Amino acid sequence: MTTDIKVPAFEATPIDTIPEIVATARASFQSQKTKDVEWRLVQLRKLYWGLRDYTEKIQAAMNKDLRKPPHDSILSEIHHLFQDLDLTLKKLKEWAKDDKSVDYPFTFTPLKPRLRKEPLGTVLIIGPYNFPLMINIAPLIGAIAAGCTAIVKPSENSPATAMVVKELVENYLDPSCFFVVNGAVPETTALLDQKWDKIFYTGGATVAKIIAKKAAETLTPVVHELGGLNPSFVSKSTNLALSARRLLWGKTINAGQVCLSQNYVLVQRDIVDDFVKQLQASYKEFYPNGAKTTTDYARIVNERQFNRIKNILDTTNGKIVLGGETDKSDLYIAPSVILVDSVDDPAIKEESFGPVWSILPYDTLDDAIKIMNQVDPTPLALTTFGSKAENEKILSQVTSGGATINDAWMHGAIATLPFGGVGQSGTGAYHGKSSFDTFTHLRTVVEVPGWMDQLLRVRYSPFSPTDFKRHIWMTSSKPNFDRNGKLISGPRYWFWLIFGLGGPSVKGALLRWIVLFASAYAAFYQYRKSW
Ligand code: NAD
Repeated sequence: MTTDIKVPAFEATPIDTIPEIVATARASFQSQKTKDVEWRLVQLRKLYWGLRDYTEKIQAAMNKDLRKPPHDSILSEIHHLFQDLDLTLKKLKEWAKDDKSVDYPFTFTPLKPRLRKEPLGTVLIIGPYNFPLMINIAPLIGAIAAGCTAIVKPSENSPATAMVVKELVENYLDPSCFFVVNGAVPETTALLDQKWDKIFYTGGATVAKIIAKKAAETLTPVVHELGGLNPSFVSKSTNLALSARRLLWGKTINAGQVCLSQNYVLVQRDIVDDFVKQLQASYKEFYPNGAKTTTDYARIVNERQFNRIKNILDTTNGKIVLGGETDKSDLYIAPSVILVDSVDDPAIKEESFGPVWSILPYDTLDDAIKIMNQVDPTPLALTTFGSKAENEKILSQVTSGGATINDAWMHGAIATLPFGGVGQSGTGAYHGKSSFDTFTHLRTVVEVPGWMDQLLRVRYSPFSPTDFKRHIWMTSSKPNFDRNGKLISGPRYWFWLIFGLGGPSVKGALLRWIVLFASAYAAFYQYRKSW
């Protein structure tokens, strides 16, 4: 990265232009141009080149906002997006096709039931400050792929990147379909006053509630990608040096400003001292001259967030066993670990969203699980370092948006896996195909052939008991379970399933065979006609 790259100064989008921007995006959606899959692919390919051409400028902007190391800008943001784009470009035609693999009673085969993939419309994407490129652009990839028009509102707390994102989108994407609105609460409020077909929000729970309330007024669907009090679990069956090293990585990248990183770690009591020693050793390995002097370690985004994180260090009743140093003038907080002895300690109860985390010793696995469920039963991420049986027990008894076994938040680092929270940590998912699905409406379509009217006679008045009986025979199948809910099997069951096409009587089976032949004949006839 060259150092003389100029990043534009932050400029909020004039509020009075917002209604017109949204109206343009909506009119473009209504023009039908985004429905063309080839058009979407062209936009995605242009986005790819935009990210390539802007790589250095993005790195410079993120360095300005968060002192993000250029190495991390590539690994956790730009390269992440390339992987997502790569998959989307390869698979979009397949994803956009009608899905015929839907389940329906066999007798409805002639109706060719299918799911048509339709773009939702004009969508709003609101981003946070910590991954100021990736978290804005990854949902945009999904919106473009699905055929939506979109407006992105990056966080004002990472102002340099917000401006570069705006420039990139304006220079590379269709200017009548994709926009970036910059600003803070007034601009976001003006955006929320508009009608949307979906709002995709990433950030904290307080703002999520404001957005959900506003969206409810117009019954607008919302995706919430939120945070949480992420637990980790370390037992004596694990490789302590490896778990310490990996957890330290998870909380030092981006100076811990990662929604997925562990907030607290439950460590089996008799290995706590060894675990702390391993953490200290890993710290020395990562930062031989301390984290402050290296360019590999980011800074806290602003003074407000600095004060919030420092307050955890100031108010804890625990013992700081790693780091603890802070420097407000440099927005520096050292990677810090606090050994606490109570679940009520502020270091456990508050989301750190910074480089501070705590260790809480436990005696039995059941105790640890109870604590996790008490602190936050639906965190965004869960990580566990234990034996196979311990890891499985934790996975089955504690839920989370996603989980990693034997590492810190790796499940979130794979750009194409579904990513999202559960309960308090969010609703909905994105990345890879999930991003496409998030902005797509699955429209159920059937096509009823004229010749079927005789078979559909049952629905017309005057109602006929014969037609009614025939219809029930045709559309019912013999249960494969008894009155106690137990599965039944045996030759009689299999005979009816195979030769009766799943039906309970001779007449029903006959009718189903007739429908099968009629459909096959109709299909064959159509095929012959097309010769
Ligand atoms: P934030 O909630 O302060 O801001 C997010 C966005 O909301 C910004 O674009 C901001 O301009 C907007 N906003 C702020 N106040 C608003 C208001 N009153 N009305 C309308 N819009 C408003 O979040 P943040 O501080 O940028 O990020 C920190 C939080 O986000 C943490 O809780 C973290 O866990 C969470 N987070 C979650 C994910 C995820 O993918 N699940 C990713 C990153 C961050």
